[in-house]
Amino acid sequence: MTYALAVHGGAGTILKSNLTPELEVAYHAGLARALEAGEAVLKNGGDALDAVTAAVCALEDEPLFNAGRGAVFTSDGKQEMDSAVMDGASRRAGAVAGLFGPRNPILAARAIMERTDHVMLIGENALRIARDAGLTFEDEAYFFTQARWDALQNTLDMRAKGEEDDDPARRHGTVGAVACDANGHVAAATSTGGMTAKAPGRVGDTPVIGAGTFADDATCAVSGTGHGEIFTRWTAAAEIGARMRHLGEPVTTAAEHVVMHDLAPNDGSGGVIAIDAQGRIGMPFNCEGMYRGMVGHDTPLSTFIYR
Ligand code: ASP
Repeated sequence: MTYALAVHGGAGTILKSNLTPELEVAYHAGLARALEAGEAVLKNGGDALDAVTAAVCALEDEPLFNAGRGAVFTSDGKQEMDSAVMDGASRRAGAVAGLFGPRNPILAARAIMERTDHVMLIGENALRIARDAGLTFEDEAYFFTQARWDALQNTLDMRAKGEEDDDPARRHGTVGAVACDANGHVAAATSTGGMTAKAPGRVGDTPVIGAGTFADDATCAVSGTGHGEIFTRWTAAAEIGARMRHLGEPVTTAAEHVVMHDLAPNDGSGGVIAIDAQGRIGMPFNCEGMYRGMVGHDTPLSTFIYR
């Protein structure tokens, strides 16, 4: 059984100087749990779509990461979640934006893909589809974390003083997974609370197909994390696929080019995980760190935070 899987827990890593040994262990453990959840699907001959969904659910359940439980807060103290899933075999995709309620927003995105003729839904009707799909809903107490709330207060204080928030851990965060299954199909899933103190109603790159999430068996599956507006304007994820298709670049070269030469010079801090239909993986980022990890039929599970 050949397969490969990569996950990320966001490019908005905690500054190395603030990382305690306990937190470091917890981040690695959270990434490992997601890889194990995805690998359990792939090892049994399951498909890439189910693997990335399982991996992202595990990351959403982990409060350390900015998605699902532990999502960041908007400037008015709410949590609005964006997520998307895409199947490389069929190029079917589903996405939700600005959602609050489903315990696993990635399952809501998947319900949109599987239960409607649309790619993205927002608002009440997205919630209704999620309810009809039987998804578990949670309340504010479940999603709340003190660390994210404190980060919002810090960011708002800085804003009031006219200071720039230069701590990427406060600004960023997202989770994602890409996989290649034994049949050579790829898939991508991405889920986020967005950026701390974002404007209410702001939608980032995560649920926008071709920006933060993309999958096509002919090229690659991509999940991005970083400054969403720039990922969207540079259509980061689709651009990686386009470079592979038109220039014949390997997935690693194409991903590296977009992250280092398209995004980095344009204030697009962040990174991507990308995989092709042979299971080759690229995980470039242009900031201090990116929570990330990979596993494959012939690659032991490994997780990383910094370079
Ligand atoms: N890309 C996400 C957004 O802009 C945030 C992140 O990945 O750090 O919503």
